Amino acid sequence: MNTTTLTPVTVRARGVTKSYATGGGADAGVQALRGVDLDIAEGAFLAVMGPSGSGKSTLMHCLAGLDRPTSGTITIDDTDITALSERRRTDLRRDRIGFVFQQYHLLSELNGSENILLPLRLAGRRPDPDWLESVVSALHIGDQLHRRPSELSGGQQQRVGIARALAARPAVVFADEPTGNLDAASGRDVLEFLRHSTREFDQTVVMVTHDPVAASYADRVVLLLDGRVSGELQAPTTESVLGTLRELRG
Ligand code: ADP
Repeated sequence: MNTTTLTPVTVRARGVTKSYATGGGADAGVQALRGVDLDIAEGAFLAVMGPSGSGKSTLMHCLAGLDRPTSGTITIDDTDITALSERRRTDLRRDRIGFVFQQYHLLSELNGSENILLPLRLAGRRPDPDWLESVVSALHIGDQLHRRPSELSGGQQQRVGIARALAARPAVVFADEPTGNLDAASGRDVLEFLRHSTREFDQTVVMVTHDPVAASYADRVVLLLDGRVSGELQAPTTESVLGTLRELRG
């Protein structure tokens, strides 16, 4: 590839603010985001870090179209999601966005493959068997798909959760502390797969994490402080993330 070729931007945030009303009359409320600009390139693995209360969840909810910013714009693959009606935003989430949760959120009555296929089924979409086969094989869960979540380890459940998130080939996968519930070895497998999905499938992944080891798997770390981007690291290592977090704490 020509080095001057620009990688397309999958998610673009411009001047994003979010205030929550706190109820008191003249009270300005809580300003959770105070003007965030962010470009997330196609196929990037981005980690979002920052102290508790810095706005990570609010930013992720706005970027994923779960919540609407107070001002500013967010585009996903050139669609301005801040201009969409509630209904169209719901459709866009279903069709273009995958979610991975700390607590997996699998349905206990369904086996692995039923869980993976559920969002597609709800959307009335036909699965792409070749794509699903690539994902399931890269996640090493091919022999676990007939099992229900209670018959799987935490790491296996999370890998099923990731297959579910990727099943519809979304524009972007948002992962909220995906390794927060896992032992170190299972966490590593999950992070290695997330990184693999960006390299091999050109999947764009945004992960919120507290863990500098988890963040070191990303290509880039964005640090939030008081609702603003206060810094970023390219090609992070556990040590560089720890160092930057230390500086942030002063
Ligand atoms: P983080 O994920 O980094 O811990 P959050 O995005 O959850 O940060 O919160 C940012 C700020 O917004 C905090 O001060 C928090 O108390 C406030 N906040 C978050 N959600 C709400 C809400 N629904 N109503 C009122 N305040 C909120």
